Amino acid sequence: MQLPCAIFGHKPDKTRVWNDNVDFRAPCIRCGAAMLRDERKNWRLFDDEMDGASNRKQHRHEKGEEL
Ligand SMILES: [Zn+2]
Repeated sequence: MQLPCAIFGHKPDKTRVWNDNVDFRAPCIRCGAAMLRDERKNWRLFDDEMDGASNRKQHRHEKGEEL
């Protein structure tokens, strides 16, 4: 973790927000850590154990299932 993130917290890169089918996600603008916007619209770090639901897309560019 870079020092500004340790002091100020992570900052989501609003130009790189994407939707994983459940929540909005974005990388931290400074260190690239995966972040998630929760139901109260607070950005926090993505937690693999808490947030690793199978109906989420894992990556921004993952294509949907082809019909
Ligand atoms: Zn960060």
